[in-house]
Amino acid sequence: MSLKGKTAVVTGSNSGIGLGVARELARAGASVVLNSFTDRDEDHQLAADMAKEFGVEVRYIKADMSKGDECRALVEQAGACDILVNNAGIQHVSPIDEFPVEKWDAIIAINLNSAFHTTAAALPMMRKAGWGRVINVASAHGLTASPFKSAYVAAKHGIVGMTKTVALETAREDITCNAICPGYVKTPLVEAQIPDTAAKYNMTEDEVIEKVILERQPSKEFATTEQIGGTAVFLCSDFAAQITGTTISVDGGWTAL
Ligand code: NAD
Repeated sequence: MSLKGKTAVVTGSNSGIGLGVARELARAGASVVLNSFTDRDEDHQLAADMAKEFGVEVRYIKADMSKGDECRALVEQAGACDILVNNAGIQHVSPIDEFPVEKWDAIIAINLNSAFHTTAAALPMMRKAGWGRVINVASAHGLTASPFKSAYVAAKHGIVGMTKTVALETAREDITCNAICPGYVKTPLVEAQIPDTAAKYNMTEDEVIEKVILERQPSKEFATTEQIGGTAVFLCSDFAAQITGTTISVDGGWTAL
């Protein structure tokens, strides 16, 4: 599978799943645009290292996905956008009657609205190129709910709905739009919580993983960022040309329960 000649824009890709997806797209030969809201030397170094490792063009473009005009500017600055991966996302956990308004607004802006703006900016480029792939990183929480995650669950269900709409609007073109729905993925963010939670509940780290973090994931194993990246590469392949407007769960059986 070669994505040589394609340019991929991956939002929120200086760590975690976004970085894993960007790496697999680069491994498959795509030019990649990395993004986050920071503009540190290490962000640009990450791009330079990835370019060297995979022999493809990799750029880092700063843009804050909570701001609609910056979302659109990211795609425009990329210059081309054959593959758009809407991945940037944040979380906040709180009962709905205590949910801070600014957290609600930030989650809806970053996890949902940003995908509206980037997709709106990218589709004309994909149409001009005659080919495109929109991949939204939703969640098992795009298909099911948990208490205390109202904004996140609302945003993720919203992006699954938008995925279907964009697929219908592009159905007669060589453009697809799908959502990947991960369960728990081992990212630095999740890993960092394990020692603290173990101390809090007086458990071993293995017990925390199985009984607390992966309580709802029947495989009792994390998905990896490489597996999410590989799923994205598959969605870009010709094998997936008729897969559009749907979700692919990578959740160890969570949503089968
Ligand atoms: P992460 O915190 O490691 O990565 C989030 C990325 O988004 C980072 O690169 C961060 O810099 C970026 N980001 C945050 N706010 C931003 C902003 N305002 N503008 C631009 N970039 C911004 O988290 P992750 O676990 O890799 O999550 C990535 C996506 O995967 C999210 O949409 C998340 O909801 C989804 N997801 C994660 C899991 C999991 O278990 N880790 C499971 C299901 C879905």
